[in-house]
Amino acid sequence: MAQLQRPAWAYMKGKLVPWDEATLHIGCEAATRGLNVFEGLKGYWQPDGQFKMVMVRKHYDRLRRSARLLHIPCEYSFEQYLAILDQLIGALASPDRDMWARTTLFVTDGHWGENTVSDLVVTAYHQEKTTPSSIQMGVSTWRRSSDVALPARIKTGSNYQASRLARIEGKPLGYADMVLLNQSGRVAEATGSCLLMVRDETVITPPATEGTLESITLDIVESLAQSMKIPFVRRPIDRTELLVADEIGICGTLCEITVATAIQGLSLSEKSPILSAIQDRYLNAVRGINPHPYVELTALRSVKVGG
Ligand code: PMP
Repeated sequence: MAQLQRPAWAYMKGKLVPWDEATLHIGCEAATRGLNVFEGLKGYWQPDGQFKMVMVRKHYDRLRRSARLLHIPCEYSFEQYLAILDQLIGALASPDRDMWARTTLFVTDGHWGENTVSDLVVTAYHQEKTTPSSIQMGVSTWRRSSDVALPARIKTGSNYQASRLARIEGKPLGYADMVLLNQSGRVAEATGSCLLMVRDETVITPPATEGTLESITLDIVESLAQSMKIPFVRRPIDRTELLVADEIGICGTLCEITVATAIQGLSLSEKSPILSAIQDRYLNAVRGINPHPYVELTALRSVKVGG
């Protein structure tokens, strides 16, 4: 097979630039939605002034699973990874806001799976300490790709092309997020979160085999629901079930638990009592106001009130 050698020059930004200077910013979409695996983690200020990350071990383990599935080497141990988060968030944290950190293992060298080299990049963003506002949602014409095409189980940037198109589709219709169906026309998940539906006082969500990411927040929701004596079931969901559901919401690290007030133009119960109760319980658990045994919070030692 033909091999690609490093050339001396590339054409970029309207001119020839030396190969080593032909760079993109690591935050640009060409990079973040390309050949990489990533995780989004959230950290919250706690009542005692500590700053704690939610389920950091589970995020690290999922990053490694995604990397394994895409044959991307990951040289960092869990302890090294924690130290990186500590260093970056320690430099950025501000006591009035929580933080969301994106950890991306980029492929920086190699071709077609040979001589693959990766680099771990972490970026972190301030987040308001507010309860997520309710949203209107639609059902996209774009679909989650199947497990034999681009498996949803792999948290890679390339998997988010359909999500991006779905958001673009929903925006002019007033939908803040969209449901993606799977290749069989059943509900998979939302563009960057899992779908929760309530029917007859039971919380229902599709299993990962319906084309969803193996969500860490969803497992938390399941545990919280069990403690709250709310029935929780993982089973396939038809599209029409969404249109007759009592409540709909989404869950994920960034959107936490967000309730939908309408789906595809059809209004849902204003109050969403069950999902709102789970939302409250979730926020109280991650903020350490009412800890829950399933929700693991890891303190970052360098992150202190007042920076
Ligand atoms: N599905 C998709 C497509 C996502 O991007 C996310 C966010 N990571 C989720 C589900 C929810 O996963 P988690 O609860 O682990 O954040």
